[in-house]
Amino acid sequence: MATRNKNSSSTEEKHEGEGEGEGEGEVSVSKRNKDDKKEMFIESYKVEGLSIAGHETCIIFPSLNLAFDIGRCPDRAISQDFLFISHAHMDHIGGLPMYVATRGLYRMKPPTIIVPTCVKENVEELFNVHRRMDHSELNHNLIGLDVGEEYCLRKDLKVKAFKTYHVIPSQGYIVYYVKQKLKQEYLGLPGPEIKKLKSSGTEITNTISTPEVAFTGDTMSDFIVDESNIDVLRARILVMESTYVDNSTTVEQARDYGHTHLSEIVNYADKFENKAILLIHFSARHTLDEIQGAVSALPPPLAGRVSALTEGFNNRRN
Ligand SMILES: [Zn+2]
Ligand SMILES: [Zn+2]
Repeated sequence: MATRNKNSSSTEEKHEGEGEGEGEGEVSVSKRNKDDKKEMFIESYKVEGLSIAGHETCIIFPSLNLAFDIGRCPDRAISQDFLFISHAHMDHIGGLPMYVATRGLYRMKPPTIIVPTCVKENVEELFNVHRRMDHSELNHNLIGLDVGEEYCLRKDLKVKAFKTYHVIPSQGYIVYYVKQKLKQEYLGLPGPEIKKLKSSGTEITNTISTPEVAFTGDTMSDFIVDESNIDVLRARILVMESTYVDNSTTVEQARDYGHTHLSEIVNYADKFENKAILLIHFSARHTLDEIQGAVSALPPPLAGRVSALTEGFNNRRN
């Protein structure tokens, strides 16, 4: 059974819920060692990054050239051209100026940063403040996206924002693969005929969008039962927060803080059609053993397709 560390006062509990200060700070993120890092592959996607509630969350899909949230701007995020921000809590957005500045330093092309529309103006102001202070350019392309809106990442990739339920405005993102499929009625036509139809302006294809990767950011479990989020539960990979994994924190407390408890994921197990689920954003008061123990004890139909991002966690409790 987990015991709370001695610093976990009720004041900090409140703090955690209000602004994600999560002042329990027992996880030694500085101990991360590049050499002993294991590479993580999920459904043949390489996944990098780290996520510790209240400290930093940045999830990177190098093959998609994107990161979800920037955390404190880990080195591996800098080379991603696209960044999707779920909400403005510091552990998710704090490294943003560093991300843009470091890309400028290396003369990389200005990144494209997608944020919830409601924070766009403040993010612009944040960059202006930095420009006023250090006279730098901080070149980037900032885009506000609302729930339900789409951003075209590549000809064959688009990203759509979906609704999440947190203590401040927040949203998740779904990456879709987009491909053109020849309409049924033209199947079997010889190539030159198809070419002729196409050049005459006839719409010969249907657009097929397949949900590939979904990222929740911070949210209560309510996003799972939101009917407009059906593609989130169908995405090949779902990266989902599960801040609390055992009964040292109750579901009610998790909800007060705007987060998800692993037991809620278990209760909704039948709803997930995802091939793989990656759990992130564990509370810093959980040890590595607690997280791994909870995930390996997951019952069917979750067993075997859920993994946990535990980088930065260990078994020390101060
Ligand atoms: Zn967070
Ligand atoms: Zn948050």
